[in-house]
Amino acid sequence: MTTFWCEHAWVGGAAPGVVVEVDDGLITALSRAATPPAGAYVLRGMVFPGFANVHSHAFHRALRGRTHADGGTFWTWRRSMYELAATLTPDNYLRLATAAYAEMVVAGVTVVGEFHYVHHPPGGGRYADPNAMGDALAEAALAAGLRMTLLDTCYLTGGIGTALSPEQQRFSDGSVDAWAERALSRSDHPRTRVGAAIHSVRAVPRAAIADIASTVAGRPLHVHVSEQPAENEACLAAYDLTPVRLLAESGALGPSTTAVHATHLTGDDIATLGSSHTAVCFCPTTEADLADGIGPARELVDAGAPLSLGSDQHAVVDPLAEARALEHGERLRTGRRGRFTPDELITALTSAGNAALGWPDAGTIRVGAPADLTAVRLDSVRTAGSRPEQVLYAATAADVHTVVSHGAVVAENGRHTRLGDVGRLLTETIEELS
Ligand SMILES: [Zn+2]
Repeated sequence: MTTFWCEHAWVGGAAPGVVVEVDDGLITALSRAATPPAGAYVLRGMVFPGFANVHSHAFHRALRGRTHADGGTFWTWRRSMYELAATLTPDNYLRLATAAYAEMVVAGVTVVGEFHYVHHPPGGGRYADPNAMGDALAEAALAAGLRMTLLDTCYLTGGIGTALSPEQQRFSDGSVDAWAERALSRSDHPRTRVGAAIHSVRAVPRAAIADIASTVAGRPLHVHVSEQPAENEACLAAYDLTPVRLLAESGALGPSTTAVHATHLTGDDIATLGSSHTAVCFCPTTEADLADGIGPARELVDAGAPLSLGSDQHAVVDPLAEARALEHGERLRTGRRGRFTPDELITALTSAGNAALGWPDAGTIRVGAPADLTAVRLDSVRTAGSRPEQVLYAATAADVHTVVSHGAVVAENGRHTRLGDVGRLLTETIEELS
């Protein structure tokens, strides 16, 4: 058994002097003490439940700082991403993902949703183990000390009514049945679950969306939705429906589904997502980096859609910055402050994120929950003077000083306790791919 003493902890609000007792990775008792009990591991500053990074493509980390010279659009960025995807193997993806996940851990993340579609060898075919790539990701998450939901992604077409391009061949299983047989036959590990994803209405035809929705019942189902206006235009032209309406009419929305991005929505789309209690995952730093736009986050939450956050292409891996960018986007588009309360932003970063990934008991500091804790300094150059309950508006990932995952300390002062210097690890693995 381990005892942690938190100078301040987020237990539905900021509270001083919280004692967290942990056994076998789970919180077994909570109490209050003004000073640390004898033998307790002391967590100074503000301790949050570990953060959930709900939308990740681990390999995109190798594009950071490399796609800006020529400007371009989402679609020119995608060409660079496809060139990178073509270099991945199970071995080098294990190393790259381990480094990318280690960066998440030192930033305070304790659970990731990996939206995984690089399934097969370049050009198609199958690895000897057809799940070699997904298994490499799961192994990487365990090595980094992250819980994971592997959102195994169905990807069948290059666009609506368009054949796959050569570089997209390795993303496809050829049919929903083949995808389901490969992806959903795996068994869950206590800390790695298998969920499902529809890549987008561009990559999965209407009939296949309905087949997936009826196949995955109960598992988390994620889908990229309306990230770019061009996707909406193509969907309207082909089906006379918006992507949200197409998903709704295919039976793909509901509380187990998460719509990722949800940027360019109609009023009817917002009402449809909200009334079906479909979750939404915003990725504000990615949506800024790729010039996607600012989605209607407040309207979606008000309509009934739970909100979570993801770093997506990892131009930034900083959950605190992600939450702040969400709120800043709201302020910029409405001219009003305080669109989301600190409690709403922290819920998005923690319990709502875990729920979107199929871990409804995680992401809170309470008895029975996984002991995932992220401690943030209140005395750094960025945070000094901040009130504990408002530190979210000042802190960055650099202020995360200790991360506890499943009861074990996995990061201290920016270093991973098992993997060491994460900057070195990232440099080596990205150079290997170049
Ligand atoms: Zn994505």
